[in-house]
Amino acid sequence: MKSIVEDKVTVTAVVLRFIACCLLALLLGTLVPGDLSAQAPSWPDAPEIASYDIDVTLDAGARTLAGRERITYANTTADPIPDLVFHLYLNAFASRDTIFMREGGAAHRGQAWSPDAAGWIEVTELRLAGGQPLALETLEDGTLARAALPEPVAPGEAVEIELEFRAQLPRVFARTGYAGDFLMVGQWFPKLGVWQDGAWNAYPFHANAEFYADFGTYDVAITLPAGHVTGATGLPVEQADNGDGTQTVAYHAEGVIDFAWTASPDFEQESRSVDGVEVIYLYLPEHARTVDRVLDATEAALTHYGQWYGTYPYPRLTVVDVPDDGQGAGGMEYPMLFTAGPMSALGVSLDVTRGADRSLELVVVHEAGHQWWQSVVATNEAEEPWLDEGMTEYSAVRLLTRLYGPGRSLFDSRVVSLGSLDTRRLEYFLSPGVPMYGPAWEFETMEYVIATYSKPALSLLTLERTLGEETMLELMSTYYQRHRFGHPTTEDFRTVAQEVTGQELDWFFDGLVYGDEVVNYRVAELEPRSVTVAREGELAVPTEVLVTFEDGTTVLEPWDGSQEEQTFAYPDGPAVRSAEVDPEGRVLVDLRWADNGLSRQVYVADWLAVAARLVYYVQNAMLALGGW
Ligand SMILES: [Zn+2]
Repeated sequence: MKSIVEDKVTVTAVVLRFIACCLLALLLGTLVPGDLSAQAPSWPDAPEIASYDIDVTLDAGARTLAGRERITYANTTADPIPDLVFHLYLNAFASRDTIFMREGGAAHRGQAWSPDAAGWIEVTELRLAGGQPLALETLEDGTLARAALPEPVAPGEAVEIELEFRAQLPRVFARTGYAGDFLMVGQWFPKLGVWQDGAWNAYPFHANAEFYADFGTYDVAITLPAGHVTGATGLPVEQADNGDGTQTVAYHAEGVIDFAWTASPDFEQESRSVDGVEVIYLYLPEHARTVDRVLDATEAALTHYGQWYGTYPYPRLTVVDVPDDGQGAGGMEYPMLFTAGPMSALGVSLDVTRGADRSLELVVVHEAGHQWWQSVVATNEAEEPWLDEGMTEYSAVRLLTRLYGPGRSLFDSRVVSLGSLDTRRLEYFLSPGVPMYGPAWEFETMEYVIATYSKPALSLLTLERTLGEETMLELMSTYYQRHRFGHPTTEDFRTVAQEVTGQELDWFFDGLVYGDEVVNYRVAELEPRSVTVAREGELAVPTEVLVTFEDGTTVLEPWDGSQEEQTFAYPDGPAVRSAEVDPEGRVLVDLRWADNGLSRQVYVADWLAVAARLVYYVQNAMLALGGW
């Protein structure tokens, strides 16, 4: 029989041993190299619907890919699913006759497509895993294909299929392809659409449209020449030298909607740890001057967006530089990876404008924003592009303004300064009545930029200034947390907005998102005993009127803008000296600030002085920003 004392000793010994083990582990952890002591990476808890296991071999001379792919699709819907629909995006670059080429005039972001450097993809084998071949039917212009299944996939069941494909990469065009030895390989493998509402939601590749996919796990092994430095969605898990001049690099990612990779024998690499996230910058030696700028901007984005919306959920984020002759691959987002490149929205060499031009920072914080508004909150970029581009650009403008101050966040020199918000306002003025809501292919290119970037950024910032920063961040973080790893719609955002603010916000949703309403606020009449303000246009944004009296005292009148005219009367006391609608400039969609009140005149003069010069810049910027 053990005594109580013995028991106590035993317990103490166990506790001591445990503590010693912990100390040893801690000590070892500090002694072994970082990559060996690192804990297993944590992946987000996302639904696993469409998972891909791909072996792909690059023929570096021919710039072709040969791939074997296994797709596991889990039917989480209530419908039996009778077939599978695949995107074959690379076929958009096969000829001048595709939907993409016809809509885009065989050009993208000002860069021409060449028939000598076309791209295409072909599925050469398709079968149920382990056997039965499946027939593949080409749809539309060949950027979609359908395979009927012998039996529908029942709700709660999964189907596994195997396929083989070969693909030709285009010379860099519309985000993807090669430029010399540089490769940016995006939208490159046969990929399922999204089953929802009883059908496959999958469109042919339209010129303005981006993408839509389900979450899943990706295991991708890439065989390519030894000596190429690679980067990809996910984490590298294995690298083998094949002894024949090639190497195989394997990547793993969970909770992602896509997989893109890049390679170049010239890449150099810098990394930085930001709140436990490993940020990798792959850059070309000729752009070594961008290293600090890119890493600083990426860190600022991860930190701020993380605080505003919710923590970045993946262990790594790779930023990819692009060569000067491959700019068409720059400024594009994928899960855990985005491309930047030393592009200038002002159309001037970065060497000339060094230190003044923040286009690079803008690209970086914009693309980083897509990690939240696309990669995690995976809206349908084809049907509702304003949700991803708009929230991303809102985030980018907000961050740049915070980092560099208003009026100088895009360009900051002694001669001229320009804020990212200012350029978005100038763009907005070109077509303020275009609704933000609508599928990508229904917009002309200019309208697309305004509807999905400029107007949403201004509208969301107007909403923020109307609600207050705290409420706005509560709205955005609630929307993010509730819909992360899902596919929310504009109406889901509206539901969260109404719930968080307790307001209908019809002016925002019916007026700006779905509608074509515009507003110009002005002081219509100034009398010693009254002020009359007026609203031109249908859009009634809640605002304020600042009235100043002859004795210097002021009063701030709330005005909901619901009436076309409103008169504020002051029968007693000192006479009215001046009045101003929206004195804080919160209504960023106001078409003319010049008539809001007298005190605005100085600002307007400044504004007009640079406006003519800016028109040139804006045209360049719109070309450059067209496909971010
Ligand atoms: Zn974008």
